[in-house]
Amino acid sequence: MTLTEKILARASGKARVEAGENVWVNADVLMTHDVCGPGTIGVFKREFGKNAKVWDRNKIVIIPDHYIFTADSKSNRNVDILRDFVKEQNIPYFYDVIDDPNGHWVFDPTKGALKKQYGSHFAGVCHTALPQKGHTRPGEILFGTDSHTCMAGAFNQFATGIGNTDAGFVMGTGKLLIKVPETMHFRLEGALQPGVMAKDVILHCIGQIGFDGATYRAMQFDGPGASNLSIDDRMTIANMAIEAGGKNGIFEFDAQTKAFVDYRCKLNGTKSTYQPVERDRDEKFVFDTTVDLSKLEPTVACHPDPGQRKLAKELGNIVLDRAYIGSCTGGKTSDFLEFARVLNGKRVKIDTFGVPATPEIVHDLQTSRWGAKTVWDILVDAGVQMTENAGCAACLGGPVDTFGRMNAPLKCISATNRNFPGRMGHKESQVFLASPATVAASALTGKITDPREYLS
Ligand code: SF4
Repeated sequence: MTLTEKILARASGKARVEAGENVWVNADVLMTHDVCGPGTIGVFKREFGKNAKVWDRNKIVIIPDHYIFTADSKSNRNVDILRDFVKEQNIPYFYDVIDDPNGHWVFDPTKGALKKQYGSHFAGVCHTALPQKGHTRPGEILFGTDSHTCMAGAFNQFATGIGNTDAGFVMGTGKLLIKVPETMHFRLEGALQPGVMAKDVILHCIGQIGFDGATYRAMQFDGPGASNLSIDDRMTIANMAIEAGGKNGIFEFDAQTKAFVDYRCKLNGTKSTYQPVERDRDEKFVFDTTVDLSKLEPTVACHPDPGQRKLAKELGNIVLDRAYIGSCTGGKTSDFLEFARVLNGKRVKIDTFGVPATPEIVHDLQTSRWGAKTVWDILVDAGVQMTENAGCAACLGGPVDTFGRMNAPLKCISATNRNFPGRMGHKESQVFLASPATVAASALTGKITDPREYLS
C-alpha cells in the first residue's frame, strides 16, 4: 500500500484497502474557521438536534483567520458565532481573535491596517497555525473545511478539505465515508540551487500534470530530495496538491518530522502520541515521475490557473502593478527570510504588501536581527507595507476593505497558492504565482524577474 492507503486502512480498521474502495474512517482532528464554521455548525444542529453535543470536544479545532481584519459586520459576527458555539460545547482549542470569552469582535478601521488588533489567543492562518499549535501528527486523519487542509500532509498524515455538510456529519459522529484515492508518485532527487525554493518545486509539478492532473488523487512526495527539504518546504508543496486537484499530498516521516511534531505537541500540551506510516515495497502508483531538484529554476504560474507554468527568466516582458507575500503557503518565517534576503538594502518599485501567516511569524520577524536591523524593519525600509494583522488577507480577496485586496484590474505577482480569475479581488485582475524570492526580485524591478539576478 502507499502512504495514503496505509493511513486510510488503519483509520477504517482494515488490514488493507485498495484505491477506489469506499471506507468509513475515524477522524483524529476536525478543523474549521470563520468562513465555513458557522455553516458547519448549522448543519450539525439541523441534523443532530439543537442540544446535540459534538462527538469529541478535544478533537475539534476552530481557527478564525479568513475575513477577520475587516469592518464588514457580517464577517465580524461569524467570529462571535464561533465563540458562542465553543462556549456551549466547551471546546478547548479555539484560537479567538479577542481575549474576552464574553466579548464581541469588532475590527476598528480607524486604527489602520498595519497595527495588530488581536488578543493573546489568536493563531493566524489555520493551516500554518495547526502545526504551530501542536495539532498535526503523523499517521492521523485531519479533516478541515478548507481546501488547503492538505498542507498537513507534510507531517505524514492524511489531511484533506471537506465541505460544510461532511464537516457537520464529522462533528456529530467523528466518521466520514472516503473513497480511497489512487496515488501519484513524485520521487524527488538532488537539492535546490540558490534562488530556487519549494514553491518552484510544486509549480513545476503542477505545470507538468495540469491544474486538474491529480483530481481526486493522492500526491506522494518522497526520495532523497524530499529528505533535503525543510518542514516549511514540505508544507509549501503539500499545500498546493489541491491546485492540481489532489485529494491530499503526503510526505514520509523522518527525524525532522519527529523533532517538529514532538516539540510543538510538548510546547502546546496537545496529544503527543502518534504512529507514522512507512513506505511498503508493494506500492501501486497510477503515475510515477522523478524530479531532480538541482535542475529546477525559478518558476511562475501565469494567469489564469496554477498549471500555467513558465520560467521567471522568460517573463521579463510582463509589467506588474503589485507584489504580495503572505498566506499559508507563502507567509511563513522562512518565506519572509528569503524575501528579505533579496530586498535587503534596496527599495521596491511597485506597491508591495506583506502579510505574515501567524502572530508567531510576526514575532519571529520583529525579533530576528540582521546586523543592526530586524528583518521586519529591513522590509519596511525597503518599502514593503507590512501588517501585524496575520491572517488570510487578500489571498482570497475578501471584503473590499481587506488589506492588499485588488480592487482594480491590476497585475500582481504573489507568493500565495491560487490564481483563478477574481481570486485576489477584481475579476479582471491577473495573479502570477511565484516563490517569495521571485516576488521580491519582481517587486524591485516592476516586472517578473528571476531572483538569481539579485544573488551575490
Ligand atoms: S491563506 Fe489563502 S489559501 Fe491559505 S487558508 Fe487563507 S485563504 Fe486559504
